[in-house]
Amino acid sequence: MKRLFYNRKMSLSTLLTFLVSTSVILTLLILTYSSYHSSKESLVNTYLSLNYSKAEKMSHSVESLFDSMRTSLENTAAFLEKNEQLSDEEIFEQLELVKNSSGYFNSLSWMDEEGVVRAISPISTGLTGQTIYSGITREVLDAQKPGITAPYVGPSNRLIVLMNQPIYYKDGKYRGMIGGTIYLQEQNVLNQILGNDAIEKNGSYYYVIGPEGTRLFHPEYQLIGESATSNPIVKKLTNGKSGMELVTNTMGIPMLSAYRYMPDIGWGIIQQTPYTFVENLLEKQLQELMMHVWLPFLLLLLFSIYIARKLAAPFIHLANLVNQLAQGKTVSLPLRNALVEPHWNREADLLTKTVAVAFETLEKNNRQLTQTATTDSLTGLQNRRKMDEVLTEWEMEKRSFSLVILDIDHFKSINDTYGHQAGDEALKMLADTVQTSVRKNDHCFRYGGEEFVLLLSDTDLSGALKVAEKIRGQIEKAPLIPGRTVTVSLGIAEFPLHAHSLPELFTRADKALYASKSAGRNRITVASA
Ligand code: GH3
Ligand code: MG
Ligand code: MG
Repeated sequence: MKRLFYNRKMSLSTLLTFLVSTSVILTLLILTYSSYHSSKESLVNTYLSLNYSKAEKMSHSVESLFDSMRTSLENTAAFLEKNEQLSDEEIFEQLELVKNSSGYFNSLSWMDEEGVVRAISPISTGLTGQTIYSGITREVLDAQKPGITAPYVGPSNRLIVLMNQPIYYKDGKYRGMIGGTIYLQEQNVLNQILGNDAIEKNGSYYYVIGPEGTRLFHPEYQLIGESATSNPIVKKLTNGKSGMELVTNTMGIPMLSAYRYMPDIGWGIIQQTPYTFVENLLEKQLQELMMHVWLPFLLLLLFSIYIARKLAAPFIHLANLVNQLAQGKTVSLPLRNALVEPHWNREADLLTKTVAVAFETLEKNNRQLTQTATTDSLTGLQNRRKMDEVLTEWEMEKRSFSLVILDIDHFKSINDTYGHQAGDEALKMLADTVQTSVRKNDHCFRYGGEEFVLLLSDTDLSGALKVAEKIRGQIEKAPLIPGRTVTVSLGIAEFPLHAHSLPELFTRADKALYASKSAGRNRITVASA
């Protein structure tokens, strides 16, 4: 497993690019995620408290409205008690006056203790003179107590809420009641006070809940009078609690709801905003964020990738160079010049400079080693190894050339007579003489002991012969050993005239040399055709 991992090698620039892009993308994601969540929380809280303050305001309005309604009923009852002698017509006029001037009630009626509707405004309800025998209206009448009912279908077949105030004769005997109604499903004082634009643009709306959890007011008229107790916050309201929370309503829609209980009348008011509105807002915010953020992030990403590549470049370059070196290739100079250019990264700069110096030292040592390995230490001439190299090269180039083998005559005797050291000196001097006698692209080698080889490039036999003759003459005259003439014998062969292979060429030249020796030395022999 570990092996497998190491075998899959990743380039430095890929690694850096990967790291940088991952962190940039992660940052973007984290930023988006956290911004989304904090916005969501703050939006939810904002809408909850906004709704709560609305619900609170509305509940205050409703409570003070009911106070006034109650007062209005009390005043009317007190007026009737004071003016016992008033006829039904006069009472009707009084009720009409109160109803129209206050605008609190949809209808206002006087019912006597028997349940006979003695006066009702508006008169159009057509109930005047009728007796109410049963139903909630009758129960309220018989209870002889002031109060307000839960919603019910009244004698006029409307869904109503009835607020009543009992009336007494001067002697304290029960005389009936003044009843004020609110027609829940029609224009009434509640929706006048709280506003008719029940559903706002963002889907927010309010509704009013009665003591048993029935809806007293709701923008959906058909829901008025229906029970809403399956909604958890309605239950809380009926238990006298106020608050705000995210709740799923009876239609299965999540709502940011604020609810306020009105202790005086036992009603509750709920102001709520659909949660989807907040979600849509968030989505829009997120889209906007993305719109603003993607370009800078893309630029950041591209810039990071660029920097990563720049950072990795010298290391990759170095790795390639060292690899070339390891493969035995010569590292070319232009590359090295590029290498020593300063890099803005400290480590990269240090490494490239160090490697550049190391390469230079390496090459210097290499040059020295090669020089040493191909040079004869005594004479300073190139040695046999170098000769082989040159010959192989020339053979490949199919160059024509002449080979001259030179051997000192009776050198053993020189050594024996003047000593080995004198022999060495003679060898050195001879080497210098030979070296100065040839052209630049010709080569001089110490072939072994007191034998030398000349390779004369693009030179035929006659040319070679001239050179050989010149050398022979110069050595004869040169004071190699003071007081003694030193001579050399030479053999010449031409390539490819005399041979098709190098060994054969050497054999032919050797034979020619041998011929010179046999013929008396200090002479030149050209290989026979
Ligand atoms: P010939 O004319 O037939 O070539 O006779 P020669 O004496 O030159 O030939 P031989 O091959 O018998 O002797 C070569 C001598 O060269 C033997 C050896 O001591 C001497 N010699 C070889 N290398 C060196 C060297 O580096 N320094 C010295 N001083 N002598 C060397
Ligand atoms: Mg010899
Ligand atoms: Mg010799």
